Amino acid sequence: MIICEKCFCDTEVISIIRSKKEIGSCPQCKSKNVYIYDTNKYDDLNILFDDFLSIYTPSSQLPDSYPNSETFLLKDELIENWNIFNNKSKSEVYNIITSICKEKYQYNAELFDQPVGIQELYDKEYLSNHSLLTTNSWDDFVEALETKNRFHTHYINLDLLERYCSYIRKPYKAGEIFYRCRISSKDGFNCEEMGAPPIDKTADGRANARGIRCLYLGDSLDTTIYETRVGAYDYVTVGMFELKKDIIVVDLKVIHQISPYIEGLDCLEYAINREHLNKINDEMSKIMRRSDSTLDYIPTQYITDFIKSITHDGMAEYDGIEYKSVMHGDGYNLAIFDPSLFKCVGTNVYRIDTIDYRKHSIK
Ligand SMILES: [Zn+2]
Repeated sequence: MIICEKCFCDTEVISIIRSKKEIGSCPQCKSKNVYIYDTNKYDDLNILFDDFLSIYTPSSQLPDSYPNSETFLLKDELIENWNIFNNKSKSEVYNIITSICKEKYQYNAELFDQPVGIQELYDKEYLSNHSLLTTNSWDDFVEALETKNRFHTHYINLDLLERYCSYIRKPYKAGEIFYRCRISSKDGFNCEEMGAPPIDKTADGRANARGIRCLYLGDSLDTTIYETRVGAYDYVTVGMFELKKDIIVVDLKVIHQISPYIEGLDCLEYAINREHLNKINDEMSKIMRRSDSTLDYIPTQYITDFIKSITHDGMAEYDGIEYKSVMHGDGYNLAIFDPSLFKCVGTNVYRIDTIDYRKHSIK
């Protein structure tokens, strides 16, 4: 079967396809002039997929205690939980994986045709050694932080968290522009008033505890205005912030989309932790209501402080974290540990004309 780079989203798979240096048309997705890969000619993807798919066991070979409700067809699992294929239907995914893994399909068709599960998800011993959360529960971790031990919890495996962070490093070059919004008067604020608040004015945020300065920025004018949750007819000042030197941040918004094919990544371990990694991503971008307790920020403050503490050769490894904006579509936010890494280079004052209130009935 001929497949092409456009059939996939996974960067490791795409780079293997490109490495064959064959250009042509793809019969699967109809792309023209793209790098193509013939599954009958090469076995690089076969090796990659065989290894990855070995984390799954067909239901007939799973222990009786494995919950049936937690088994899924491989093609569904690959579409819903892994970011490997680019807009493919279930039958297309089935055809592609059975062509890539022809031999596996010949002697273990159950893997492709029966519902499958990950045995280790219910293996207590495996979980105690490999789960990011030592009791395998996000709620236990949160409760322990809030009510038992705030700074030295044993409920999270920090070595593993550090390793996952290393897979989602994102560099930014000096000169990049980000935005920061503050509700203001018609006269607006000047540049000096647009930075992170001084220590005595800091408040608890998702990436900083009170007393610790942190510069929160949005990727666009709209993102930062939405994140500020302004009211209609409010005036706001938006500062443009320029990055002064090259930095590296941890891109938490893709923490659940790490390629299972990255060299050195234990994909079974990653698969059993994906639920927890999703939770970190969700918590980071969760909408906070005014009535919420500052205790709700503690889990993300803990994770942010840990990321801040990671060093390499005695130097801090990361300068901030990046997380998605729930207030504004594809927008994202940065929380920068050292506010002096950015300089405010200009401000504009806006009046908010309309706000689109959407609601749904909950009672
Ligand atoms: Zn294609």
